This record gives sequence, structure tokens and C-alpha cells, in this order.
Amino acid sequence: MTQAVEPHGASRSPARDEGISLYVHVPFCLSKCPYCDFNTYQGIESQFGDYLAGVTGEIEAWARALGRPSVNTIFLGGGTPSYLPDGDAGQILESIAGSYRVRDGAEITAECNPNDLTLEKCVELRATGINRISMGVQSMDNGLLAMLGRRHDADEVIGALKCCRRAGFDNVNLDLIYGLPRQTLEQWQDTVERILAQSPEHISMYSLTLEEGTPLRHWVQQGRLPEPDPDLAADMYDLARAELGDAGYHHYEISNWCRAGRESQHNLAYWRNLEWLGVGPGAHSSLAGCRFWTVRSPREYAQKASEWVEMAEPWASATAGRIEGVPTVDGLEVIDEETAAAETMFLGLRLLDGMDVSAASERSGIDLMARYATELAELTTDGLLVWDADGRVRLREEAYLVANQAFTRFLP
Ligand code: SF4
Repeated sequence: MTQAVEPHGASRSPARDEGISLYVHVPFCLSKCPYCDFNTYQGIESQFGDYLAGVTGEIEAWARALGRPSVNTIFLGGGTPSYLPDGDAGQILESIAGSYRVRDGAEITAECNPNDLTLEKCVELRATGINRISMGVQSMDNGLLAMLGRRHDADEVIGALKCCRRAGFDNVNLDLIYGLPRQTLEQWQDTVERILAQSPEHISMYSLTLEEGTPLRHWVQQGRLPEPDPDLAADMYDLARAELGDAGYHHYEISNWCRAGRESQHNLAYWRNLEWLGVGPGAHSSLAGCRFWTVRSPREYAQKASEWVEMAEPWASATAGRIEGVPTVDGLEVIDEETAAAETMFLGLRLLDGMDVSAASERSGIDLMARYATELAELTTDGLLVWDADGRVRLREEAYLVANQAFTRFLP
């Protein structure tokens, strides 16, 4: 693939001091949850070995191609990284440590399912250098967990968290989903309160989306499950926001809360529209002025990665700013200046402490204040944005749940 158009920021090199974030996609799950449309698969455990060879090969080839950049954060996501065979997460991290300049104290997160987190597994993960666990809890109601096809129950969540603590993890995120079919406000309140009783450092919560092609959507369309009620989901969000606020959590992004200083550094890099490299099947990257993604099929991905590694000079097939002939890359879009500007606004305003438009302009090299004068004025008049005395602009509380619609005004 040859990219001839000059992308926005192409002159930026990821080898510059600010470094990149690194996302490693793990495509394996013990079973596929009926609401999930991620690029993940059950029943392909025979591909564990090929995946490991492919992803470590791709990690090292990119490091050479990009001139061994600094890495600020690492995120093993998926999929279920905790479902990888013992030792594989360690090999992935060794491959990263051996080929990039991983910053001291870098946040290294692994997404985990509660039923994988025995004490032995937690100790193994901690020994690899992983210092943050993100656990897919979703609910503390066993009936709703069964409807979601989850393989754990509420007691296992508490047991898994205890194992994390005993293994030395002091930075744990718990993921929740609300707005589920048949879920009552009382059930949701019980989940929130039981989660708060565990004092995690970070909580993420997302409203259920009935994704195209998922069994859960099909069941709702067939009338086997009731359609989720968006007004009730909004009440659930408000309830959680009040309870988490009372419990002292900092609400720093529309869907994310944390204890002081425990913001997700990896996700902050996304919201600040900084550069990241994604490796593994179907992973997306935003680097050197381009957005690109790898082949989705784990089998094909492993083949392409080994083709890349076997090239005489694998690193020569990709250079910063021009992603050419990389076998694992399946598609590429240039991020032109207009798109880069829109994304900076769209993502930056999700952060509830607000956005310093001047600083964001300087970082992106685009005068955002001038470009979006009309849109910013309209959103302010409509009561969705408010300006602080120090010149920061932020979402008003009333706009949290309609932010995505509001932000479409920034799109080209
Ligand atoms: S465990 Fe997570 S990634 Fe895997 S199928 Fe379920 S929701 Fe999707």
C-alpha cells in the first residue's frame, strides 16, 4: 500500500520525546458474549501459538520501523488477555520492553475477566510488569450477568478483586454496563453500591448499545427481550453519578470516574488525540498523520505478521509518515487537517475538566478557536458548553448524555 497524500502531522515523528501509546489486541475469549461486536472469537485456542509469534513479530517490526520510540502507556485489550496461556502476556511485554523505550512507571493495563483471576494468575500478571487491571464486571446482578452471557457471578468479582489486591495491584478499574433489558433502577443501584463497597481506583460505565449483528439485538428485535428504555438509562447514569460523587470519585470523562490521580493514562492519550500504535488482529492506530488498521482475521493476521518478519528488511516497509507495504495493515486513511481538528474537539471535550483550546491548538498546530468560532458560540448559547475564567471550555452537566450528538457540529 502506498500513501501519497501528505497527511496532517506527517512531519511529526513518533520517535519525538512525547512518545506513543501502545495497544495490543488479544482476540481470544472463552465464550462470545451476545452483546459484543468486538473482533474477538471463541474456540480458536489452537491459534494461541501463531498469534503470539505474530504479535511479537509485529511489535518488533514496528519498533524498528518507527526508530524505537518511547512508549508512555501499554494496554493489553481485547478480547480477554487474562485468557492467554500462562506466560504469553509476559512474552508480549518482554518483546515490547526489548524493542521500545518504555518510560519508567508507564501505566501497563491488562483487561481481565473475573473468572480468570485466580491468585496464581494475578501473581503471574503482576510479575510481567502489568500494574493496572481492568476487569469486565458489567453487573453485580447474577440474573443480568447470565442474560449477558457472562461466565462469572458477583461473588467471583469480589474474589477476583481480593486476588488482585493480594498480588499487589493497587490500580484496578471495574467496567459496568447499564441500560440493560429488564434492568431496574433498584438493581442498578445495588450494583453501584456493591462496587463502591469494593473501593476500586477507577470505574467505567457505559450504556448498552444493541450492536448490529449481535444476538442480543436479534433477541430484542424478535421480542424475546424488551427494548432498553433510554429514559431509564439516563436515570441510571444520574443515579451513578450522584453516588460516585458522594463517594469521592472524580468524574473526569463522560463515562469514567477515578480516585485522585488514577485517571486512565492510556485512555487520556486517546482523548487528547495523541499518537498510538495498535498491534494484533483488527487493531487500529493513529500515527504519523494516518489512521490505519490491521487485518481482522486472527489466522490471516498471524500469516501476514510472519510475512512481514520474514522480509529481508521488515522495518524498511514502514516509515513514519508513510505506511507502505506493511503486510499486516489492511486499510489506511489520511487524517487531513480538517479531520484532525474535529477529532481534537470531539475527544477533548469528553474530558470534564474542560479543554484548554489554546494549548490544544498549539499541540495540534491548528488554530481551533478560529476554526470553530461559530460552533463554540452556538454550543455555548445552547447551554451545552461553559467557559471558565482561565479560558478553558467544558461540557455542562446537562450535556453529558447528549455530548455525542452535540459534537457532530465539529465534524467536517
Ligand atoms: S469477554 Fe469481553 S471481549 Fe470477550 S466476548 Fe465478552 S464482552 Fe466481548
